[in-house]
Amino acid sequence: MQKINLEELVAFLKEQGFVFQGSEIYGGLANAWDYGPLGVELKNNIKQAWWKKFVKQNKYNVGLDAAILMNKEVWVASGHIGSFSDPLVDCKKCHSRFRADKLIEDFTHGEITGDGMSNEQLTEFLKTNNVVCPVCGQLDYTDIRKFNLMFKTFQGVVEDAKNEVYLRPETAQGIFVNFKNVQRTTRRKLPFGIGQIGKSFRNEITPGNFIFRTREFEQMELEFFCKPGTELDWFKYWRKFCWDFLVSIGVDEKKLRYRDHDKEELSFYSNATTDIEFDFPWGFGELWGIASRTNYDLNAHQTHSGANMEYLDPDDNTKYLPYVVEPSVGVERMLLTVLFSAYDVEETKKEDGRVDTRVVLRLHPALAPYKVAVLPLIKKNHADKANEIYDMLSDKFSAVYDETANIGKRYRRQDAIGTPFTICVDDETVNNNTVTIRDRDTMEQITLPVDEVASYIESKLKF
Ligand code: ATP
Repeated sequence: MQKINLEELVAFLKEQGFVFQGSEIYGGLANAWDYGPLGVELKNNIKQAWWKKFVKQNKYNVGLDAAILMNKEVWVASGHIGSFSDPLVDCKKCHSRFRADKLIEDFTHGEITGDGMSNEQLTEFLKTNNVVCPVCGQLDYTDIRKFNLMFKTFQGVVEDAKNEVYLRPETAQGIFVNFKNVQRTTRRKLPFGIGQIGKSFRNEITPGNFIFRTREFEQMELEFFCKPGTELDWFKYWRKFCWDFLVSIGVDEKKLRYRDHDKEELSFYSNATTDIEFDFPWGFGELWGIASRTNYDLNAHQTHSGANMEYLDPDDNTKYLPYVVEPSVGVERMLLTVLFSAYDVEETKKEDGRVDTRVVLRLHPALAPYKVAVLPLIKKNHADKANEIYDMLSDKFSAVYDETANIGKRYRRQDAIGTPFTICVDDETVNNNTVTIRDRDTMEQITLPVDEVASYIESKLKF
């Protein structure tokens, strides 16, 4: 498997129509990205895979789609207005601006994160370890100050404090404030979870590494409610569940690791937190955060709103606030992880013995933007039959029809965008109603009757 660096991946994704610079014709908007025809399919497939395993197929969990704009008091209660901030530091020499904890993380190649360090500890670390400014190489920083990450705007026509609203910085609070609604309407007993996928916004100080850290992104979050005292068992359960999910959708397991938070790093309300990290070309970075959050959130909302958030346990008639385990992951980070795992350049031998190379995006078939490509061998002889097969298959899967260029080039094009199966329509198809199906990874071909193709592909989409 050949490595690809970030610049090469960005160029590749643009060239193939996965990801474009946002507002490109106006010179772009820093850190904004648009997902092209293939990118939107891949993204949707990732979300569907998560939804399938965490909500649809999961006997414990149900789904929710809460509003992005919420009453300001939600963010007061959750602590976001008071303390959802990052430690901001400027280089006095070149005036570049950084997140102090990320300077340390980059300096130590992900071995030490500044998460949980106080401003004084961060300042001390920068000084004693000679963490110079990555732009100008000087060690001369301003004091560290807190920068709130929430985007603020106004609802309605009057721009005053009363009408202030925030773009949500996480989807989780939409779940917490609906805990009782969901529990009551679904008549769920503990333990049960509520999953949600949606956009979140953070005015990050130093966005970057392409789509790894952006100001607008999507999260897939589960809040799992359980009886106090059982939370650490459930924490272990979800920690493993998330890892297994990543492996099942084709993430390279050799590049994954757990990073358990130690006492210093743990949030004050958490009794266990782990990040599942992936080895990106710039070092290990957080992909998935799994946190046991005790009853912090429900308690905060109960206290601040006055609404009773308690659960009446029918087993022993006691009332209590459930404890919560939260696995939270970004769609774009998962997409990046999937792409770095799938991208490959393979050497092949041509018929005359010369060495050729091909780019293969070895995506799990369930995630591939197109499941199948239909290629007539010779346009004038086979296009009608190929179109008939395309119509049949596109009713069931995302499929693509391609009659341009020679057949070898068309295979290569599909390999590069990760299409797992390509069907060549030739005289055999017209005369005997059979097709050859080529496998993207092995390049082997099998022959099947046309009416068995759909069930063959279907059987390969399982994960
Ligand atoms: P980081 O330390 O990288 O800023 P975090 O610990 O603040 O992340 P969480 O608040 O735990 O992140 O968010 C849960 C998940 O949401 C992260 O694991 C990540 O996958 C995703 N995520 C968070 N912030 C961003 C962002 N700015 N861009 C893209 N994805 C993000």
